[in-house]
Amino acid sequence: MRLDKFVCKSTQLSKSQARRCISAGAVVVNEKIITNEATQVHENNTITLNGITLKSRQFRYILMHKPANTICSNVDEVYPSIFNYLHVEKISELHIAGRLDADTTGLILITDDGRWSFSLTSPVNQCPKVYRVNLSKELKADAASAFEKGVQLQSEKELTLPASLINISLTEVLLTITEGKFHQVKRMFASVGNRVVSLHREKIGDIYLDVAVGQWRYLSDDEVQSVR
Ligand code: URA
Repeated sequence: MRLDKFVCKSTQLSKSQARRCISAGAVVVNEKIITNEATQVHENNTITLNGITLKSRQFRYILMHKPANTICSNVDEVYPSIFNYLHVEKISELHIAGRLDADTTGLILITDDGRWSFSLTSPVNQCPKVYRVNLSKELKADAASAFEKGVQLQSEKELTLPASLINISLTEVLLTITEGKFHQVKRMFASVGNRVVSLHREKIGDIYLDVAVGQWRYLSDDEVQSVR
């Protein structure tokens, strides 16, 4: 990787700030001052800025409680973006691992680590996501076994992967799925003749939602490792 990119990624500096530090002689690679910003460096090089050792890329992992009527996109459209609730540097480098619909509330995970978000969202890894679902009417008795076997969603080739259902009341259930097709939960309930009135994601893998609506926090190392 280029030296300016490394300095930028391992600090909160912008590219132009990183370049100024390098040309001013503040960056040392393996005990040698390097002023050429294009110098190629490797993660096992010892690189310091003003005498402080820079660690290679520190990824960010954030949990947020998404409010209703917000969107999981970087720009405001009809509704405001959930990124308006997040006050961190370099926000444009972050993305959402598993988006929710505008009217869905609950747990979203935000990161700049593409490999981590892939392992969360890829159906191959079967990471379970738990949704609390309120329905317009009582669920049919055979819905749980239908979800366990997999249901056919409109315009999908394959059945859904096995999903489990826990009844909370006649019209409230907890549904666990391991994939994330477009509007999957709403379409699954439509396939058994029902309609989702409200949808809230409570848990992804071993990560629980534990902050108030609109609040966020960084994940612990254990939480990050739990979905690898
Ligand atoms: N399934 C849906 O239908 N909507 C969501 O927001 C998430 C899962």
